[in-house]
Amino acid sequence: MNRLVRSLAVSAAFLAASLLPAHAELDVVSLRKAIETSLASDYPKLDALYKEIHAHPELAFQEVKAAARLAAEMRALGFDVTENVGMTGLVAIYRNGDGPTIMVRTELDALPMEEKTGLDYASRDKANWNGREVFVAHSCGHDIHMASWVGTAKTLLGLKDQWRGTLMFIAQPAEEIVAGARAMLAHGLFTRFPKPDAAFALHAQPIPHGTVFYRTGVGSSAADGLEVTFHGRGGHGSAPHTTVDPVAIAARFIVDVQSVISREKDPTEFGVVTIGAIHGGTAGNIIPDSVQLSGTIRSFKPEVRAKLHAGIERTAKAAAAMSGAPAPDIWIAEGAKPIMNDPDVVGAAAEALKTVFGDKFRVLPPGTASEDFSEFASAGVPSMMFNIGVYDQERIDAARNGAGPPIPPNHSPLFAPVPKPTIETGITAMTLAVLSAFDQKARRKMRETER
Ligand SMILES: [Zn+2]
Ligand SMILES: [Zn+2]
Repeated sequence: MNRLVRSLAVSAAFLAASLLPAHAELDVVSLRKAIETSLASDYPKLDALYKEIHAHPELAFQEVKAAARLAAEMRALGFDVTENVGMTGLVAIYRNGDGPTIMVRTELDALPMEEKTGLDYASRDKANWNGREVFVAHSCGHDIHMASWVGTAKTLLGLKDQWRGTLMFIAQPAEEIVAGARAMLAHGLFTRFPKPDAAFALHAQPIPHGTVFYRTGVGSSAADGLEVTFHGRGGHGSAPHTTVDPVAIAARFIVDVQSVISREKDPTEFGVVTIGAIHGGTAGNIIPDSVQLSGTIRSFKPEVRAKLHAGIERTAKAAAAMSGAPAPDIWIAEGAKPIMNDPDVVGAAAEALKTVFGDKFRVLPPGTASEDFSEFASAGVPSMMFNIGVYDQERIDAARNGAGPPIPPNHSPLFAPVPKPTIETGITAMTLAVLSAFDQKARRKMRETER
């Protein structure tokens, strides 16, 4: 670098520093040290909490033990806790002077599946699921989220002199069936309690622990349920001409509906139609009266979503009409909306998180899974959801170069986060995100009053 370039670079850096937005003044480096110190003493208790919840998971809207355990933890910290908000959900409020309200959400529920990790704290618990007894497992990492949630609350109280305002920590039931967020909203989440100025959530992901992935804008897909019943006229398998065969109609529909994706939707836009279940008939020589299909419809954009809905309906009706069958019953159930990560909230958090996580804080393209955290943004709360890694880097490298088994993703019976570094990353990232939001809102208010 020659002298002129160097002096230009120096003055540019100086200018940049003097023009940095006000929230850059959050002293992230010393905050990180304070968080590390608090984690060193808090972690053993959080580890025990995590393993207890992991070993005793509960299904959607049955999360009474986890809710009671979290309520007790938050009360012990001095939060004002209201239970049974949206059935098994809870709201914990902590007021620390005048300022904005920042919400942090964890989920409470686990999945109806058998854990096969072989961990000494693996779940062997069973529960009732739609009338059947099933194994239950925390194979999505919501137990990681709960431990991080309690740890973040504790850490933020230890840093009480760094922020002014209200903490609103909510534990949401039934995320896996995309019903809990709506249940809490319907039960007065934003009317009986303050409506937050910003909201955060995190999710465990099968990437190296110590890594944090984030996005601005769309973060997950819209998920709608699909149920179709094709009606025919039953009869003998040897005499199809005396019947209207709904199995043949359903088969045609399942194939043809994919042309809505390949020929009608803009190929550069995301959209998926999956038929995951088909039920019809009892024996090979009987043509049944009807066939039922269940599926899921995924999209990012409202216009794509509308196009898929219309295309599916038209294709189903046409499949039936081709066989001279009555019109099918078509039911599209509106599910989760896409997550919208607010650019303002993400911007402030990203600045703090970049300082601490460096190149382990990365942008990720939107995921095709769905999440009902989106309900809070739809209700008008600027939000951010980010992902944290759960596995040892060596294990991921081994899977990548074929030296080890594939990495178990969320919902795999083998999903097994490494607790300590995962929970510690969750707490560090969430604490900094919340502090950045308090800081951003406080500075904005200061600027407004100066004007
Ligand atoms: Zn899940
Ligand atoms: Zn999940």
